[in-house]
Amino acid sequence: MWSSKIHKIKKNTIIQDYKFGGLKMIDIIEFTHALKSSWIRRLLKQKTNWISLLEAEMKTKVNDLCVRGIDFISILSKKISNAFWKDVFNSWTKVTEITSKNNEHPFFENIWFNPNMKLENSAICSKSYIEAGIVCIIDLFNEDGSFRSLDSLFNLNIKTNFLEYNGFKHCVFKRIGNCNIKTFREKVEPYIPNALFIFYKNVKGCKDMYNVLINEKKSQVSARLKWIEENDPPYEETDWHKIFELPFKITRDSKLQWLQFQTLHRILPTNYYLHKLKLIESPNCSFCGKHPETIDHLFVECYEVKKTMEGCRRSIFKTIHDSHNI
Ligand SMILES: [Zn+2]
Repeated sequence: MWSSKIHKIKKNTIIQDYKFGGLKMIDIIEFTHALKSSWIRRLLKQKTNWISLLEAEMKTKVNDLCVRGIDFISILSKKISNAFWKDVFNSWTKVTEITSKNNEHPFFENIWFNPNMKLENSAICSKSYIEAGIVCIIDLFNEDGSFRSLDSLFNLNIKTNFLEYNGFKHCVFKRIGNCNIKTFREKVEPYIPNALFIFYKNVKGCKDMYNVLINEKKSQVSARLKWIEENDPPYEETDWHKIFELPFKITRDSKLQWLQFQTLHRILPTNYYLHKLKLIESPNCSFCGKHPETIDHLFVECYEVKKTMEGCRRSIFKTIHDSHNI
């Protein structure tokens, strides 16, 4: 696709879906990350012997991975010597960092080892709370949406004190900001911690993880800005999705798709474009020779092209008309 080494369209655009101006090309690096992270699902769902081997190597139980946040996985990936699992944990961290950034429900985040909830710059963790089943932020709230009292935690046999309790409370409120817990409680229960949610969306495959990684790379299509500069009034975001998707919906002819793709991305080798790249001497139109051969001129303004198109239109119309008469 690229005869020279310079990318005519950004790599991050090409890997996107058609509607975002891409060609659905596979990003090998992100695909590998997605594949590796999908091993977490096997880890959580399967009960086989190799899991005990891994637990021995990690010196921790698989269940601990679920109840502790992503900072715990990062620490573990540094400690573990097995290169495969190191990669799996790194990819998992990468996926989860993105999902936690975009997530709207902080109540389902892990409290412990959560990078977004630090006390004096270090992750918080209490084994006693975990043993009592306090795992996600939501677990620290009562049914009516109020924060659990210190006494109610003592009743759960949690070994804590006023200072620790207040420290955790401070972290939680800092994280949830203005979110209202009542609205969430009614909607989603039982729940899966945010860090694991993506692995439960589908039974197999790594598509969800891959989409998360690819979405993160999404950026404005640079040609769009140029179209906006030239055209007034500008199109809405959804209109652009339709515009980019259209060539792949209406035809299966790859040449036609490619022509429209080049046009939309403004990389069609018109004389004006080739002249700018210093590949030809004149930027003028190949048909009329009078005006610079820009995309607008070629498809909309050029008199000679209009004449040819009109000829084609008549010829098609005549053929249809004749065949009907027969
Ligand atoms: Zn012309």
